[in-house]
Amino acid sequence: MTNETIDFQRNRREMVKNQLTRRGITDPKVLAAMGEVPRESFVSTEYRHLAYKDSPLPIGYGQTISQPFIVAYMLQALHIKNPATAIVLEIGTGLGYQAAVLSRFTRHVYSVERVMELAIQAEQNLLALNYTNITVSHGDGGYGWQKHAPFDGIVVAAAAPEIPPPLVAQLKPGASLVIPVGEPGNQKLWRVARSHDARIVKERLVPVAFVPLLGEHGYAEQRARK
Ligand code: SAH
Repeated sequence: MTNETIDFQRNRREMVKNQLTRRGITDPKVLAAMGEVPRESFVSTEYRHLAYKDSPLPIGYGQTISQPFIVAYMLQALHIKNPATAIVLEIGTGLGYQAAVLSRFTRHVYSVERVMELAIQAEQNLLALNYTNITVSHGDGGYGWQKHAPFDGIVVAAAAPEIPPPLVAQLKPGASLVIPVGEPGNQKLWRVARSHDARIVKERLVPVAFVPLLGEHGYAEQRARK
């Protein structure tokens, strides 16, 4: 089958039903957003026919577009309470898929990507699809984005050795950070919530498999290349 003859809309509907709803994603705003964003526009032509496959896919530079279920799970775990006013931060833009989904139920998404070429391509993808409430920046997301902090939620798409302190510091009271932590083969997803009385509550969610976070609060580059 050529890309032109694939019924992407139908594949997307089935993805929502079979990969998300059936596996316990219940948040209506996450399900609606996953049903709207054309994932096929965030993968290269050679992988387009696999856009709704139940797995991550390569996007170049040794990076991947995350599995649909994991995107939905992380965005549900963010517990966004007031979509109309929520300002959120994503670390690891990739080609912009998760940022696009998140932008459907938040006021503004700030996203940081350390590979310049990916950041540029993500901006182009998002522009072409008319997502106007997303700002992409090239840089080391381990520092967060102080200029726009504090955030109503922070989601990290690459696994860190430990929870980066700058990200916890950039959470509003009542907001959560969702982040994979640990070495390849032994990663867990964590939710770190700042309570209204300023306590930090950490909760371990599920085992996951992410590319490593690199940079100051991530893994050293040569270790990541092994
Ligand atoms: N959010 C993407 C997933 C991209 S994979 C999606 O929706 O598919 C994770 C991304 O994190 C990669 O593009 C990688 O380059 C990036 N990354 C790794 N370390 C980073 C860092 N310190 N700062 C910002 N981005 C980083």
